Amino acid sequence: MEEAKPKESEYLHCIRCGLCLAACPTYREYRTETASPRGRVALARKGLEGELELSPNLLEQMYGCFGCMACDDLCPVGIRPAELALSMRGVGEGIRPSRWKKWLFGGLLTHAGRLELATLPLRLYEGLGVRRLVYLLGLNRLLPAQIRDLEAMLPRIPKRPLRRVLPEVTPARSGERHRVGFFLGCAQSLLFADQSAATLRVLARNGCTVITPKEAACCGMPARGYGRMDLVREQARRNIEVFERCGVERIVTDCATCGSTLKEYGAFFAGDSGWEARARAFAEKVRDISEFLMEIPLVKPAGRVEAVVTYHDPCHLRRGQRVWRQPRSLLGLIDGLELVELPEADWCCGSAGSQLITHYALSRKVLDRKLDNVAGTGARMLASGCPGCQMQLNTGLRRRGMPVRVVHPVTLLDEAYGGEDAE
Ligand code: SF4
Ligand code: SF4
Repeated sequence: MEEAKPKESEYLHCIRCGLCLAACPTYREYRTETASPRGRVALARKGLEGELELSPNLLEQMYGCFGCMACDDLCPVGIRPAELALSMRGVGEGIRPSRWKKWLFGGLLTHAGRLELATLPLRLYEGLGVRRLVYLLGLNRLLPAQIRDLEAMLPRIPKRPLRRVLPEVTPARSGERHRVGFFLGCAQSLLFADQSAATLRVLARNGCTVITPKEAACCGMPARGYGRMDLVREQARRNIEVFERCGVERIVTDCATCGSTLKEYGAFFAGDSGWEARARAFAEKVRDISEFLMEIPLVKPAGRVEAVVTYHDPCHLRRGQRVWRQPRSLLGLIDGLELVELPEADWCCGSAGSQLITHYALSRKVLDRKLDNVAGTGARMLASGCPGCQMQLNTGLRRRGMPVRVVHPVTLLDEAYGGEDAE
């Protein structure tokens, strides 16, 4: 499982200018050098050059990075501290491989069926009415703050995973103009089924026959966040094979994190003569849903959504994919909708994958800044195309008692088309 260590060029030329510090959410809260991009680059260099031991303490600073990539954008000499922090986690795994990661990312996330079984208790919790009872009796208030927040983070959980409900082929309405594959992310299938169902309706309405292969695996981001590139590649190989068989012109996803990871498949196999070309061909087809919809002649929705809406840029969409105009343009197509720009819309919300669990206090502080900005807009809806951001934002809004609905931009488009009623 030995991973290639970061090359000298990835850290050596840091001139310690500090330009990246102002953009870093973790530095802003802690104000310590080790919690900054510059500090992480210096620690990585010392660790790789043998000046410091690659201790759990040192590696913890790499896990403390929220991966928002704001620093990557600012560095004048092209250092990418976010990428370096991820690679360093892989170095740590090379030294002390962890069995639970192999089980979780290799055994569970590669097989959608196993993941569905593992999350059955959550569906029973919602479906049998236990959750409703917990809230009715106020039992949630007795939980420790972090557990309470984690529970509140769960959206209304669907009775069945969407993967089980969706047909393999969703036919285009009124004539096929495009044939696209749909990459259904794990969180979308298990937690946000309504959103992806809306995405499928919007695609079909716009002349797309949609193939949703049921055997697809997780995109690989969770394993990547824990330094297990071997498992990421295992999942990537499976997804490449599955979508090759579909024969589609584009692979669309409505999850910003999945999209950002899928687009990197080519880089994950750089130098691998057996897979690089296939991975690059796959990655070139991948589009975020807003990106895809703004590429095709989109049918203007006839309905209206009367609401003041603001928009939060998921890091994996804005920086990971350079997609930020398209979701705004898409919202701009909806009559009645007033889009108010969110100050610091591209500032991380603090979700950062599992960091909202492992770095709970910091994650909350980062979220507070976002919520202050949302409050200032007066919006009653907050649109964002990433399930991780949505869960984080929802929890914070509920905690503050702010009457703001968190939605995927495509959900609003679907509503303007008439939603399920229009079918
Ligand atoms: S990716 Fe974000 S959190 Fe990590 S070092 Fe860069 S700015 Fe800081
Ligand atoms: S990582 Fe880049 S921006 Fe940050 S201190 Fe080093 S050279 Fe400057």
